Amino acid sequence: MSRFLSERLQPLEAYTPGEQPRDMQYVKLNTNESPYPPAPGVIEAAAEQAGLLQLYCDPAAAALRDALAGRYGVGRENVYVANGSDDILYFAFMAFGGDGAFFPDITYGFYKVFCELLGVRYTQIPLKGDFSVDPADYMNLPGMIAIANPNAPTGLALGRDQIEGVLRANPGHVVLVDEAYVDFGAESCLPLVERYDNLLVVQTFSKSRSMAGARLGFAIGQPALVDDLNRVKFSTNPYDVNRMTQAAGIAALAADAYNMENCRRIVETRQAAAERLRGLGFEVVPSSANFLFARSDRIGGGALYRALKTRGVLVRHFDAPRISDYNRITVGTPRQMDALIDAVTAILEG
Ligand code: PMP
Repeated sequence: MSRFLSERLQPLEAYTPGEQPRDMQYVKLNTNESPYPPAPGVIEAAAEQAGLLQLYCDPAAAALRDALAGRYGVGRENVYVANGSDDILYFAFMAFGGDGAFFPDITYGFYKVFCELLGVRYTQIPLKGDFSVDPADYMNLPGMIAIANPNAPTGLALGRDQIEGVLRANPGHVVLVDEAYVDFGAESCLPLVERYDNLLVVQTFSKSRSMAGARLGFAIGQPALVDDLNRVKFSTNPYDVNRMTQAAGIAALAADAYNMENCRRIVETRQAAAERLRGLGFEVVPSSANFLFARSDRIGGGALYRALKTRGVLVRHFDAPRISDYNRITVGTPRQMDALIDAVTAILEG
């Protein structure tokens, strides 16, 4: 019992973010950050704004939204930005979860935490045995739906046509497609925004654009959904995307070929690392994201996580039903993956 915490929040179990250790330099493959620095111009753009910190930022983030609109071929009124896509998810459950929410049992852990925090009733729909999402489980549901595509921590993706079936079967509720990892090889649902007023596509600068520390997420949907989200945002913190991050985002989009080339390199590194892990006897889930989800009969998930950490390699282990045998391994540089494979090899031999 916490003494002052509201009764309603007493059972709340907070989300546990991945470790951000300060004790030593790890080969850090645990929180799906990019191993590459931000695009040329991003640091300078942020630094220029740092000289203006006495002033509030543009609460409408107009220039940033225009840059995103240009990049994705939509209008400014279709674009919403927030302090990381986590905030967008939070606001979306708040805004659209009035009739309850539905999402897979194994997915981004924050969905459940947000629902508990907000008092949104939620139903977790089991993934199939191979960890895939079955779109047939998401037909005619009486509440909003959240699907991470690719899903986390599995890396598996649905095709756009499969998600379109879900949109069509749930016209009365928002279908939120969390595309945090879409730039690493999945099909985006952005082309469907024009046709479905219940679709909200959420993306982030944290992974494919090397800006996890800047906290910048965006969502694209029809103007009515964007207006709803802005109502919630302007009822909490209108200045949620600070001026350095707004400028950094614009600069990142101006150099987006750099970011997309990094994604291509990461996909290449991912395929090579998956093959090497399979060569060591691992079962590796086919990934469309910047991470691999893998298990071995030769060592348990928790044991491998701990042994890797001792050797200075950090990965993510979820001590949860059905997935505790697995580790989620962020795809880093080829050299980081060499270090991972060397460590895994040594652990299995030892
Ligand atoms: N969605 C998914 C599926 C994620 O894995 C993450 C990263 N932890 C996020 C959203 C949030 O990303 P951010 O808040 O950094 O934009």
